[in-house]
Amino acid sequence: MHAARHFSQTYAEARQQFLDATAQAGLSVQSHVQPLPGHDGEELAMDVVLEGHCDAAGLLLLTSACHGVEGFCGSGVQIALLRDPGWHAAVRESTCAVLYVHALNPHGFSYWRRVTSEGVDLNRNWHDFRRPLPENPGYDALADAILPQTWPDPPEAAKRLADYASQHGERGLQTALSGGQYRHPDGIFFGGTSPTWSHRALRSVLRQHGTRCRRLAWIDLHTGLGPSGHGERIFACRNDALALARARMWWGPEVTSIYDGSSSSALLQGLMWQAVGWDCPQAEHTGIALEYGTQPMAEVISALRGDHWLHKNPAQGAPQRETIRRRMRDAFYTDTDGWKERIVEQAEEAARQALAGLVG
Ligand SMILES: [Zn+2]
Repeated sequence: MHAARHFSQTYAEARQQFLDATAQAGLSVQSHVQPLPGHDGEELAMDVVLEGHCDAAGLLLLTSACHGVEGFCGSGVQIALLRDPGWHAAVRESTCAVLYVHALNPHGFSYWRRVTSEGVDLNRNWHDFRRPLPENPGYDALADAILPQTWPDPPEAAKRLADYASQHGERGLQTALSGGQYRHPDGIFFGGTSPTWSHRALRSVLRQHGTRCRRLAWIDLHTGLGPSGHGERIFACRNDALALARARMWWGPEVTSIYDGSSSSALLQGLMWQAVGWDCPQAEHTGIALEYGTQPMAEVISALRGDHWLHKNPAQGAPQRETIRRRMRDAFYTDTDGWKERIVEQAEEAARQALAGLVG
C-alpha cells in the first residue's frame, strides 16, 4: 500500500529519499560524484549501497536510471525495497548480498533526459572502442527526418518515417531508430565513441563489488516500452541458451528475448550487461531489464526527438522549452498512484525471485 510515497518529483528529492532510506536500513553509501552541476544546481552522484556480506556467493545487482529520466521509476523501486523490513529479512535469510546502484546516469535523471551528460545512450555505450563500431544504415537514411530543422516536426519528416515503416515494417523502423547508432552525436540512441562517465563509474563499482561472487543476478530498471504499468522481463545477458533457460526458470516463462524477437524491444547494440563479462568474468550471470510501459511508442519516440531537437537548438522561449521537457518526463514516468503500485509490486516479486534463483 501507498507505494507512491517512495517516488519523487525531482532527482534531488529521489536522491535524498534514497540516502534517508539507506540510513534507516542501517546501511552505508558510497557516492561517486559526477563533477557537473544538476539542473537545479544540486550535486550529481551515482550512489552505491551494499547490503550483506562483501564475499557472498550470490550477488543481486539492482540498478536505476541507466536512461536518466527513467530513474523516477527505478529509484522508487529501490527506495521501496530499502524501506521494506520483509525484504531485508529475505536478504538475510538468503545469505546473498544486494548491491543497489542509484542513478547510473544522474545527469540525465536531473535534466529529465534519457542520455548522459555526453549526449550518449548509456545502454548502447558498451563497446571496445578501438574496434569498428556497428553500422546503422536505417538511421543514417532517416537522420534529418528524425531531427528536422523545425519543431514540432514538419509533415514531411513524419511522412519519411511512415514511408520507412511501410517499406521495412514497424519493427524495421524501431530497429533503425532505437537499435543504436554511432554517427550522429546529436541524434537519438547515440552510443558514443568512447566510454561515458557513467560507463567508467559503473565499471569501477563492478570491479570493487562484483569480483568475488560466484553467481551474479542483475535487474536493471527501465521505462518507456510496452503496455502502461506492465513490467516486461527482458533477458539481458549474452545470447546464451543456458543463461536464457536460467532466467526463465527464475523469473518465469514470460521472460522475453531480443534475440528471438519475443521482446517488445528491437535487437540492440552495445548493451550495458556486457560489463559483467568484462569485470566479473568469474560470475555466472543471469539478468533482466525490467521494462515498464508508460505511453505508446509513437509518443515516446516523438518526445525523444523533441528533446534532442531542443538540445541542438537551445535558443527557444521558456514555454517551448518547458513543454518539451515536461513531455519527456511524462513519456518515461507515469506520475499516478496506480502506476506506482503496479511498478513496486512487480519489482518486489522479481527481486525475490532473483534471491531464490541465486540460492538455487
Ligand atoms: Zn531504458
